[in-house]
Amino acid sequence: MTRAELQGIGMTSQRTRNRLVDRLRRHGVHDETVLNAIRTVPRHMFVEEALASRAYEDTALPIGAGQTISQPLVVAQMTQELISAGKPPRTVLEVGTGSGYQAAVLAQRIEQVFTIERIDELWRLARRKFRSLGLRNIRTRCLDGHQGWPANAPYDAIMITAAARSVPEALFAQLAEDGGVLVAPVGPEGRQELRVYCRRGADFQQKGLGDVSFVPLLPGTG
Ligand code: SAH
Repeated sequence: MTRAELQGIGMTSQRTRNRLVDRLRRHGVHDETVLNAIRTVPRHMFVEEALASRAYEDTALPIGAGQTISQPLVVAQMTQELISAGKPPRTVLEVGTGSGYQAAVLAQRIEQVFTIERIDELWRLARRKFRSLGLRNIRTRCLDGHQGWPANAPYDAIMITAAARSVPEALFAQLAEDGGVLVAPVGPEGRQELRVYCRRGADFQQKGLGDVSFVPLLPGTG
């Protein structure tokens, strides 16, 4: 990947990216490290080339296989909550790699990122992106998120980026007991509540952060 490709031009330039950051700030994202991560990660590299000029609009976009890259505001809000609601995370598990953008944002801020995706095609594409962008602190697998990724548990933080009717038990079980934070959209297809759970032993404190709309968490791998 050339420097020019990475930096972008016109609608994918640093200036366009800075405008997105200003917008996120106006919408209540205040953590400078999160805003910096959004400023740094070239979102246009995570969408189809034909959509690159729309990469810095604050909107979800299709990424193939019927899936979407999340809206930047939601990515920023979830990241901000994940790093501030409990103990500062050193490790995170993301369920639903999709384009890989959210994982790349997390990787700017968190030492070790694990991310899993159920669709083989998306998983391979994301893995290639992480390699070409030199994001060496991201490890990824094609796995069903309902089971999590037990080999590396416990995780200081877990982020689910697909809608679950309820959070799979295996994911709660893989969360660190001493202040581990899990962020997830919980509810039926169409509209969910963004929830944050903070774990202390067997106790899970819960709060809601408003409505969001994610594609569903599906069973198995494909
Ligand atoms: N975080 C992504 C967007 C997520 S879209 C990004 O930054 O682009 C939700 C993703 O979750 C889709 O790619 C979908 O295939 C995946 N997914 C759905 N059910 C899953 C499951 N059970 N395990 C792992 N991934 C799943």
